[in-house]
Amino acid sequence: MPILNRASEMHEEIVGWRRHLHQNPELGFDLADTSAFVADRLRAFGCDEVVTGIGRTGVVGVIRGRHGAGRTVGLRADMDALPLDERSGVSHASHTAGRMHACGHDGHTAMLLGAAKYLAETRNFAGSVVVVFQPAEEIGGGAREMLAEGLMERFGIERIYGMHNMPGIPLGHFAICDGPIMGAPAKFSITISGRGGHAARPHTTIDPILAGAQLVTALQTIVSRRTDPLASVVVTITKVDAGTAYNIIPEKIELWGTVRALRMADAEAGKEQVTAVCAGVAAATGAKIEIDYEGPYPSTVNPPQEARFSAQVAQEVVGADRVDANVKPSMAGEDFARMLAARPGSFIFIGNGDSAELHHPAYDFADEAIPAGVSYWVRLTETALAPR
Ligand SMILES: [Zn+2]
Ligand SMILES: [Zn+2]
Repeated sequence: MPILNRASEMHEEIVGWRRHLHQNPELGFDLADTSAFVADRLRAFGCDEVVTGIGRTGVVGVIRGRHGAGRTVGLRADMDALPLDERSGVSHASHTAGRMHACGHDGHTAMLLGAAKYLAETRNFAGSVVVVFQPAEEIGGGAREMLAEGLMERFGIERIYGMHNMPGIPLGHFAICDGPIMGAPAKFSITISGRGGHAARPHTTIDPILAGAQLVTALQTIVSRRTDPLASVVVTITKVDAGTAYNIIPEKIELWGTVRALRMADAEAGKEQVTAVCAGVAAATGAKIEIDYEGPYPSTVNPPQEARFSAQVAQEVVGADRVDANVKPSMAGEDFARMLAARPGSFIFIGNGDSAELHHPAYDFADEAIPAGVSYWVRLTETALAPR
């Protein structure tokens, strides 16, 4: 089954939903309009069950096949946008300043709605498919709250699948790998407290800026000297907040940063190593260094069998030459990791072509990817739930 004719017929309608969502972005868990839009459509398609309010604004639809009892698979999309001013210049740009669908979750939601419409019309499978629309992917916590409210148990979900668009992968292509496909992120803020004073009398102070400069450099030894060169780890300092005048040594400065690794063991080691480096710099400089460390959150890991299954489904949709089954993972984090930790399944990338990067103000989801994405969801469902 290549790209479905029906998916092509529905293209204009799905693009309409996608652009409506793009114009009306909402953030985090505050998805009142988005989740109502999704739930209204799922009801109109004739889903057997539509449940709202799971994980605050999460929405779930259940569609039963017409070939009797069977297994249950879940398909998941994310719905939230980012706090960003859009500069895409497109006619369907965000109507709200400071909010933008810069990660393509509008496209993910529209594609899964398209698949739900098709699957509710045709029902050519045994058992049930559960379409899961989660809030708060970007800020994290949406998946955790849906899981805590019994998402998997309540709907009997046995396998769970996710999809994310990826700029740089050609349109109409898919990419996946087995093992970790998205990283385990952690973030930290570090407060360095010294003793302030006159810039001309440093010997009477404890200079937190000098301690901070040493710390920024020393933290780079985590990757270069404390981590196996064959492991994948990145440490980045992203913000330095220090000082007020050219002649004052400040009391206190603040650094923000992130540690990311592909494997959880490396991510957890990162936390101990940041702590150890801070203790060393504190001892050497006399400054007091406090760390507020959040994470690591789990990496997104595809079991080999599920990665193969998903690659095969994608190949059947777009052809073997358009599927990279061995793509390099991304060090970005993904909240879907928690769902994949709860049930077997996979996370696949769908090409967004030559677009701006994710989280960039000029980014836009490529509507041309929609028929392939919808067809992938349908094909995956009909294969995983084929009548025996
Ligand atoms: Zn994102
Ligand atoms: Zn995203």
